Amino acid sequence: MTAVPSLRLPPSLPTVLWRGLQGRCPKCGTRGLLHSYLKVTPSCSHCGEAYGHFRADDMPPWLTVFIVAHIVIPPMLMLERNYQPDIWLQGIGWSVATLALTLLLLPRCKGAVLSLMWALKAEGSERT
Ligand SMILES: [Zn+2]
Repeated sequence: MTAVPSLRLPPSLPTVLWRGLQGRCPKCGTRGLLHSYLKVTPSCSHCGEAYGHFRADDMPPWLTVFIVAHIVIPPMLMLERNYQPDIWLQGIGWSVATLALTLLLLPRCKGAVLSLMWALKAEGSERT
């Protein structure tokens, strides 16, 4: 089977980022950009677009830490200032909230970064 070149316009950057946040292929929107939580699928099962060569490196964890810190720290400071709950209660509560948010956001951030790399054609030096 020969590949027929598509006459469709590439998706817009907001569409690409939204698809990446959902773990979908940035090109066609099919689910499955990541598997096993954070592993990049070598290629899309629907359109065949290759993703295995993209290296997001440390950007997804940095982005996740940035977002989680901005979500968790302001209410933590407001709670401490206004109510001063016990330190053990805060330690458990904020730790659970931070861990849950991190586990929830990390694959979404990785999908968004990979989609952005795909849109910018930032394929790195490993692909020849
Ligand atoms: Zn696809």
